[in-house]
Amino acid sequence: MVPENTGGTPADSDASAHWLSARQSLAGLADGGLNIAFEAVDRHVQDGFGDRMALRCVDRRGIVDDITYGRLADLTGRFASLLQQLGVRPGDAVFTLLGREPAVYITALGTLKAGGVFCPLFSAYGPDPIRTRLRHGRGRVLVTTAQLYKRKVAQIRADLPDLEHVLVVDDPWGQHTPAGSIDFAHALEAATPMSEPPRTSPNDPALLFFTSGTTGAPKGAQHAHAAVVVHRETAQRVFGLGRQDVFWCTADPGWVTGTCYGIIAPLTAGATVVADREEFDAVRWYRLLQDQAVTVWYTAPTAIRMLMRLDSTAEGRALTDGLDLSALRLMASVGEPLNPQAVLWGEERFGRPFHDTWWQTETGGIMIANLDGMKIRPGSMGKPLPGVVADIVEHAPDGRIEQVTEPDQPGMLALKTGWPSLFRGYLGDDERYRAAFADGWYLTGDLARRDRDGYYWFVGRADDVIKSAGHLIGPFEVESALMNHPAVAEVGVAGKPDPIAGEIVVAYVSLKPGHTGDAELRRTLMSQARQRLGAAVAPRDIVFVETLPKTNSGKILRRELRTLDIQGETAANTPRPNDGGSS
Ligand code: AMP
Repeated sequence: MVPENTGGTPADSDASAHWLSARQSLAGLADGGLNIAFEAVDRHVQDGFGDRMALRCVDRRGIVDDITYGRLADLTGRFASLLQQLGVRPGDAVFTLLGREPAVYITALGTLKAGGVFCPLFSAYGPDPIRTRLRHGRGRVLVTTAQLYKRKVAQIRADLPDLEHVLVVDDPWGQHTPAGSIDFAHALEAATPMSEPPRTSPNDPALLFFTSGTTGAPKGAQHAHAAVVVHRETAQRVFGLGRQDVFWCTADPGWVTGTCYGIIAPLTAGATVVADREEFDAVRWYRLLQDQAVTVWYTAPTAIRMLMRLDSTAEGRALTDGLDLSALRLMASVGEPLNPQAVLWGEERFGRPFHDTWWQTETGGIMIANLDGMKIRPGSMGKPLPGVVADIVEHAPDGRIEQVTEPDQPGMLALKTGWPSLFRGYLGDDERYRAAFADGWYLTGDLARRDRDGYYWFVGRADDVIKSAGHLIGPFEVESALMNHPAVAEVGVAGKPDPIAGEIVVAYVSLKPGHTGDAELRRTLMSQARQRLGAAVAPRDIVFVETLPKTNSGKILRRELRTLDIQGETAANTPRPNDGGSS
């Protein structure tokens, strides 16, 4: 029997000691160096586990692409030396615009081996978000497919002066490869694996993830190699991962969860990572759990709600009855509030609950969780992990932090700084970075409450960012895309509650004189937004309004938008849960 794990919040010195000791479970490099890719891949080969399966990518027809740890070490070594040949220097940014396919894993880990900074982009983004992020991150290399390049990058290439090399993964005969780009597979084959071990230190930059705020451009959250301490630790503590495990994280590698828990964390534990190359399909997902004998499954509330929907009818249930899911030992969720019903449904359907976990791009790893062996309170995010000091605080006007001591009182969720995967900066924006801290606390931007037994409950966001199907969407980015239309005078974008996606993006648009907000203009605006932003970010509905609610200083009051009358048809699409999101 596993004893109840009570989580808890250690004193700060305990927290430091905790992370120091967690560091000991990593191999490390000579002279105190640390490299995420070495911990995730080469370490296992050195320990004699090169023949173990590291990665299994499954496609729609069930065809699998298997890569052992030994092969992954070779491929990532080749990619690292290819980057060196291309003149990529430590600290340079290498971007991907790819789905869940071997190239994304090879690029991520090969870049880290070469000392570069890996930055994944969500492949469902349209040209605008891709341009903003590639420009801001000064991407020197982009790995993508010929199709994605043609549809989304070619038209913005002239705006990307830093982008020197494009590597194309799916076009071995070069038919669609843009002039001047490099074929990924051929280049890997021709490269010699890097002979020198990577020489990075814990504080060297490693990962760059773009995340959204209420205003301004997306923020590039920077992480260092030290983050792997938390990835390794949480792989073990939250998921109990070891070499015997088959781990399936359904998040897209274009988001923080898809990279930290879809690639790095399970590999540091020597587990086999299963990746589904396709979009969400409830029946196929069940089959994948069975056929790949998944032992630990990390997914998101939107996906769980869609599975619940299938299960709610006899016909739906019949499609998945009789499957053998006996290998599954742990199910966990992240990215959005997990409804209590979903936890209970997990128990009924799979014989075990979903374990909610909480973290965000800036924290770099799971901070709060319902650990295995801990009594789950359905609807609660759980308790802070050992080494994590959390609190509910009020941010006083003079900058001081006051703890909310009363149980169940909502306030800002804050974390005492000092854990190794805390972000190191917002690229090029020190002011915003500094504003995220006060009195030694990192202010998460989430509102939460803590009950008398120390369980944390999500209350909402303190800002106006939208969480739709697990994707964090900045209203400003959507507003800017719509403002490009000549008929548009003003736009305010807000999230509207949705039973499956959590929230959907709705744009409230006021028009310039002489224009009518009819169905045709709505269609034009929706299609323009979809083309520019990509379907996952574009609004699901547009509401024409006379005026937008504003503060005295003229700022749009996004929260009040939701109370405006909704006119006209809703163009909501089915959400796409495994497109990524934090989840
Ligand atoms: P991202 O930075 O894209 O990973 O999004 C992080 C945000 O997702 C958090 O700040 C929360 O608002 C939300 N989030 C993540 N996990 C949970 C959870 N377990 N419950 C509620 N909200 C969550």
